[in-house]
Amino acid sequence: MENITSLLGTLGADLTQYQGGDLASVTPITGETLTQLRADTAADVADRIAQAERAFRQWRTVPAPRRGELIRLFAEELRAHKADLGRLVTIESGKILQEGMGEVQEMIDICDFAVGLSRQLYGLTIASERPGHRMMETWHPLGVIGVISAFNFPVAVWSWNAALAFVCGNSVVWKPSEKTPLTAIAVQALFDKAMTRFGSDAPQGLSQHLIGGQECGRALVDDAHVALVSATGSTRMGRAVAQACARRLARAILELGGNNGMIVAPSADLELAIRAIVFSAVGTAGQRCTSLRRLFVQEDIYDSLLPRLKKAYASLAVGNPLEQGTLVGPLIDAHAFDAMQEALAHAHAEGGTVHGGERIEIAGGGHYVRPALVEMPAQTGVMHHETFAPILYVVRYRMLEQAIEWHNAVPQGLSSSIFTSDMREAEVFMSSVGSDCGIANVNIGPSGAEIGGAFGGEKETGGGRESGSDAWKAYMRRATNTINYSRALPLAQGISFDI
Ligand code: NAD
Repeated sequence: MENITSLLGTLGADLTQYQGGDLASVTPITGETLTQLRADTAADVADRIAQAERAFRQWRTVPAPRRGELIRLFAEELRAHKADLGRLVTIESGKILQEGMGEVQEMIDICDFAVGLSRQLYGLTIASERPGHRMMETWHPLGVIGVISAFNFPVAVWSWNAALAFVCGNSVVWKPSEKTPLTAIAVQALFDKAMTRFGSDAPQGLSQHLIGGQECGRALVDDAHVALVSATGSTRMGRAVAQACARRLARAILELGGNNGMIVAPSADLELAIRAIVFSAVGTAGQRCTSLRRLFVQEDIYDSLLPRLKKAYASLAVGNPLEQGTLVGPLIDAHAFDAMQEALAHAHAEGGTVHGGERIEIAGGGHYVRPALVEMPAQTGVMHHETFAPILYVVRYRMLEQAIEWHNAVPQGLSSSIFTSDMREAEVFMSSVGSDCGIANVNIGPSGAEIGGAFGGEKETGGGRESGSDAWKAYMRRATNTINYSRALPLAQGISFDI
């Protein structure tokens, strides 16, 4: 593996400042330890939050379009360093280089969105029932925003939150996954460069990052100075964060596990469907929150679809994600590999026929697997859980209503799709009696959302929305203002109160 200190150096980060502790930074490509880092203590967390709070008090007075200028400069840094940051994402998370770069592109895109947004933080004007009065809504920054992110999108998820949070006038304290601290260090260094170019109205401490595990996350969530916690990760983590936020009545945006399904109807364009199924199920080695995990195929086309799918699976290039031509990189660690093998054994015990799923020896201690296709007799117990690995369960269905019922019968509700050329089926799937997910697609897979839309899901996925549309409102507080420009004081609801 290349010299990680010099790769971080090209991104403007001085790794030596962070080295020398117990937190091992490991690359899933070979299982090698890249470096040892010092984890932040509870006192460090409190100190960073206090700095962020001070920065917020200044930043909220900077006009929003000027705040957008900082994000524009940051996007310039990202553009200039896309190849190196994308490579670091690959080294730390194991996703293929194209996906590593794609993640940085997503950061650039959300920055562009946020720059435009910085001139569009609109409120409403509302008809007042009182003569000579005007009512309106104004939107104000919230304060310190805590961002907790998962290993599988080590930089993009932060940017979905942070780009909006900054233009909305907040400061941000980021707790990245303990499995991907180096990308966070690099992103902070690029942000610092943009801050320097921006000038003196960018307050010190506006963007902070923490290095450490769950304890660090807990300290962030429990701190009364953090106005909003936006947490991305497992449902287990989300439950803990939701309870901690509820205890102090803090706001939370929760982006948790998915268990995403696709229905392939008889009129589907199978060429398109197969491409979408394979990309959605095996991309990022099945470690996307939107990865396709459950496939419902109408019984009349099952026997023509399955052999083609098996053929596509057999030809997949599994290997080192830094090498050209690789489509499937490693799992994040041994724990992920064990969880995959356990789920496959479980599926087999429930009557499933497993194709693939075995370990492939590629490089040192990396955990590489052949993606698994599992033909299931019905939607059994194992299919109700998210296993964060490339396992695709396939079930036959007869009627669309039945497929939709099965599709919605799991506790998660992130992303979904249908392949059909029948307009009625497509509309039913997107209607209130169709998919119960936050994302419902037609003739594209469930995986790979655009930043322009609001991103998030229902039920155990947590209900949060991030990124595009009006998701920015979650990072601001709304005030309703009533202005009396008359010479009287009429009360609402016709009340008279003569004194
Ligand atoms: P994880 O839950 O193990 O960790 C996520 C983050 O939460 C890490 O930074 C971790 O340190 C922190 N954390 C864990 N427990 C905590 C606690 N009690 N308090 C505060 N912080 C805590 O998840 P992971 O293995 O890194 O990522 C995979 C999971 O993330 C999958 O379930 C996947 O579906 C989900 N995910 C969801 C989305 C989405 O947008 N819905 C996006 C990416 C990943």
